[in-house]
Amino acid sequence: MSTPYEISGQSYVGENLKRGSDRIFHSFNSASASNTPWEFFEANEALVDEACLLAKEAFKSFQQTSDQKRALFLRAIADEIEAWGDNLLAVFCMESSLPLSRARVERARTCHQLRSMADWIVTSKHAEAVIETSNNGDRPDLRKMMVPIGPIVVFGASNFPLAYSTAGGDTASALAAGCPVIVKSHPMHAATGEMVASSIIRAARATGMPNGVFSNLNASSYEVGKALVLHEAIAGVGFTGSLGGGRALFDLAASRSKPIPVFAEMGSTNPVVFFEGALNDEDVRQMWVEKMADSMSAGVGQFCTNPGLIFAVDSESLTAFIHALSERLNSVQAGDMLHPDIFKKFNQGVTDFVGQPGVVEHTNAASGTNFSASSRVLEVSGSVFCDNPNLHHEVFGPMSLVVRCADVEQLEMVVASLGGQLTGAVMGTTSDFETHKDVVEALKQRVGRLIYNGVPTGVEVNAAMQHGGPYPASTDARFTAVGVQSIKRWQRPISFQNCPQHLLPEVLRNENPNGVMRLVNGEFSSRHIE
Ligand code: NAP
Repeated sequence: MSTPYEISGQSYVGENLKRGSDRIFHSFNSASASNTPWEFFEANEALVDEACLLAKEAFKSFQQTSDQKRALFLRAIADEIEAWGDNLLAVFCMESSLPLSRARVERARTCHQLRSMADWIVTSKHAEAVIETSNNGDRPDLRKMMVPIGPIVVFGASNFPLAYSTAGGDTASALAAGCPVIVKSHPMHAATGEMVASSIIRAARATGMPNGVFSNLNASSYEVGKALVLHEAIAGVGFTGSLGGGRALFDLAASRSKPIPVFAEMGSTNPVVFFEGALNDEDVRQMWVEKMADSMSAGVGQFCTNPGLIFAVDSESLTAFIHALSERLNSVQAGDMLHPDIFKKFNQGVTDFVGQPGVVEHTNAASGTNFSASSRVLEVSGSVFCDNPNLHHEVFGPMSLVVRCADVEQLEMVVASLGGQLTGAVMGTTSDFETHKDVVEALKQRVGRLIYNGVPTGVEVNAAMQHGGPYPASTDARFTAVGVQSIKRWQRPISFQNCPQHLLPEVLRNENPNGVMRLVNGEFSSRHIE
């Protein structure tokens, strides 16, 4: 495949392309079961050090840039990404084996994330200015705001080559906060990563950002990622990926003499609870069969919000639901998975589940091309599920385990046995939700987003979205990775006590020329202070 842009295979250390080592790796096209035509050079410790020190230096001036200037930078990145046109999408499809329609949606989402973050910071609301005046000298004058924490390392996941990668949500929010970013590029979409990285570099130059505000390091081994997390210049980590990866980097960051926060968004099984009202009526049941089949098989099940668990109380309607769902999924064509490693892990995961005592399979495993997978529906009883932790973890791909509970008490126990989740869904009538409020409450305790009568796939990008849940869905359930509030991960509060007016950051000064909304002596106000 040819692109008008020559993929160099090199890392961006600030504005400069550099090789690092002579070790070479390739990204992969699952559909043709072959390497992509590009070669990528593995970064080394010298590049890690250079990128980190450059980011540390860039932070000095980048943290001082106005919100308006950083907003221009973010918008310029979105414009540059769009300027690639179909060339970027072609490379995306080649490296991920995802369809063009998905590439378009993901690009639109990525650019929306960048622009909505720009819209948010120009309001300066992210500074969360709080002012307690001295009350004519009775007490100290205290003024508090959020400030950026420093250079951030970003790890993206293979299933979102744009939206959770090089210029994805973590990068957008960290740059918006005023933190330089170093991306550890995902080796399975390194060409997509290089093209997007070049967009960020062009945008940085065009908007006058310091060299080192962004770097993109190629690596197919863990060494580069580990060295980045351990570097003294790094102040925080954003990670999207597997539980194993997120936890390893979290532990590594905690082992530093000066620990740093790791905001890891990891796997989730996204339980869906079906009550009687969603199963007993044949038409309603059929509607859910179709919606669940679509949700389970979308993107070959490669979404962190894929519904991996289905819970319901034993009934003939549940049996009918399982059969109809399995039949429908049997008719869905097997799809190519992202890369051989994901494919291997998916098959291993299904095999492990099927091998557990009491687990039965309802679907026929269809054969397809080399790395394609078909959707799988398994079933187990509530009592076996509660006693077997091996059935609780994510199998990343199109597999759902139906847990048939003996009664409502067991359903509540099953929900209570779960670890933290990104989402949980309840299907039924309003009266079902009232009657089974203890089940709904148990689910609420374990999820970041509670969905009523809706499938978990499809994550809106707006200010009210919570994407992140109690461990092991995320390492810190207090924050979201999606929406403008994701910026909070890269900020810390600071108070200024009795600071002379002219030395205060503009957002805390009495005159408030931009009419920023602030909490002044306990009341929200956008006015100046007399
Ligand atoms: P992954 O294997 O964990 O890889 C993510 C990134 O982390 C890669 O750059 C990888 O480097 C690096 N990495 C992984 N383990 C590491 C370790 N021990 N030390 C240093 N670096 C390490 O994840 P993936 O397979 O790309 O993505 C699929 C997973 O992401 C699924 O579990 C899915 O649920 C999750 N996901 C979560 C969300 C969310 O928002 N919660 C969104 C999308 C995906 P290498 O590739 O070089 O190994």
